[in-house]
Amino acid sequence: MQTSIVVFTCDLRLSDHPPLRAALHGGGRVVPLFVRDPAVDRAGFAAPNRLAFLADCLRDLDTGLRKRGGRLVLREGDTVTEVCRVAAETDADEVHMTGDTSAFACVRERRLRRALEADGRRLYVHDTVSTAVAPGAVAPVSSDHFAVFTPYYRRWSGQSLRDVLDTPRVITVPDEVASAPLPERGEVSGVSPKLCAGGETEGRRRFTAWLRSGVQTYETRHDDLAGDATSRLSPHLHFGTLSPVEVVRRAREAGGVGAEAFVRQVAWRDFNRQVLAARPDAAARDYRTHRDQWRDGKDAEADAEAWREGRTGYPVVDAAMRQLRQEGWMHNRGRLLTASFLTKTLYLDWRVGARYFLGLLVDGDVANNQLNWQWMAGTGTDTRPNRVLNPVIQAKRHDPDGAYVRRWVPELADIEGAVVHEPWKLPARELSGTGYPEPVVSLAEGLDRLKRARGRA
Ligand SMILES: Cc1cc2nc3c(=O)[nH]c(=O)nc-3n(C[C@H](O)[C@H](O)[C@H](O)COP(=O)(O)OP(=O)(O)OC[C@H]3O[C@@H](n4cnc5c(N)ncnc54)[C@H](O)[C@@H]3O)c2cc1C
Repeated sequence: MQTSIVVFTCDLRLSDHPPLRAALHGGGRVVPLFVRDPAVDRAGFAAPNRLAFLADCLRDLDTGLRKRGGRLVLREGDTVTEVCRVAAETDADEVHMTGDTSAFACVRERRLRRALEADGRRLYVHDTVSTAVAPGAVAPVSSDHFAVFTPYYRRWSGQSLRDVLDTPRVITVPDEVASAPLPERGEVSGVSPKLCAGGETEGRRRFTAWLRSGVQTYETRHDDLAGDATSRLSPHLHFGTLSPVEVVRRAREAGGVGAEAFVRQVAWRDFNRQVLAARPDAAARDYRTHRDQWRDGKDAEADAEAWREGRTGYPVVDAAMRQLRQEGWMHNRGRLLTASFLTKTLYLDWRVGARYFLGLLVDGDVANNQLNWQWMAGTGTDTRPNRVLNPVIQAKRHDPDGAYVRRWVPELADIEGAVVHEPWKLPARELSGTGYPEPVVSLAEGLDRLKRARGRA
């Protein structure tokens, strides 16, 4: 009987899973394999919030496989060595996995292909598993990738998506293949106290609820910080507990301006992936440089630390940074504001912020994180690289009553109304009782510094 291996990576689901369907095609045995590879951790994956979410995902995947007569096989070590070892143990002739775009994933894929072929086995890499449209599937005439979102989105929208694949009913796993114990969420230390739950079951529950009540008002409410009216599907899309093809198809079926606006955001994921696939160096280097001489030294580090701790003296910035610590997730408007504040107002290197985010975000993702940071720093794909988001104006617009700030900054919880966004306007006695800090820099000073640095003064 033929045996195939499915190497799960960023696709931790059974529904709409092309590598799994392909492996089952011949009707033989399948080894659903996940490798805990220390090199993945060293490459930046190993943040406690993501490890805890991963533990949920692996347990749920194993439960789903057991319901179908199978089980998940977990191995620890170098991915290439472990896949080849399992292939030898089970005499598998095919290995299926999802295509990925990071430099790390590309090297891993090349090494795996070479090692398997040397043993007379074949590697099949599947696309449209972790993106709706594959990187490179649409490109402008004169380049290998789109550098601007709007024309990309036009072409992306015109692509016909493949059909959603059924979840397999039966999966037969060879008896002889051993597995290491699955990790437990509780074993991970340093996890954010309000971290959400992972796993395909939870992802599908959230998505169904979102389509039922949420997506319709997305267009008008997605920037409402206190309303928290976005889908919160990002960790599920990152870990692949939801299929982007299915998400886009079902949202389109739901229809309406809300669903359209939501699908447009999902397209940003694919956009960033096609940029990173073409320019893997953009994970660490400016995509479009302004030759910034970012601040460094003692004062710069003190400002960075105030930003990390949520003690900049700008309540909306601090609220968002504290949400990140508490939940391992931050509202998109908060991400934009805090990134603008770090890179434009404090004039600190986007990599400082990107690194800190990746240490905490449960959806922390090299393509989305680094390229959104670059977008806000003006070194990426934004066509207006010098835009600055004023945290007070933004706060009044997107948190008009101050409820978001009061939720996350307990020192200011008793200050009613929009004045909470400008605590320096409060009577000195009232403010000093709160223990809330003075602004680290005035907005005018920050703006002047940026203009001088970018030669626009
Ligand atoms: C500085 C910065 C860092 C970011 N880092 C990450 C990251 O590490 N991982 C991540 O998934 N997103 C990142 N984003 C994008 C965005 O903030 C999150 O995807 C979004 O807030 C997740 O919440 P949601 O699922 O409720 O999104 P929704 O608003 O419900 O959007 C639906 C989905 O579309 C995708 N999406 C939405 N906005 C963007 C965007 N700007 N770029 C790419 N995809 C998007 C996400 O997969 C999201 O789940 C970052 C944005 C900024 C400004």
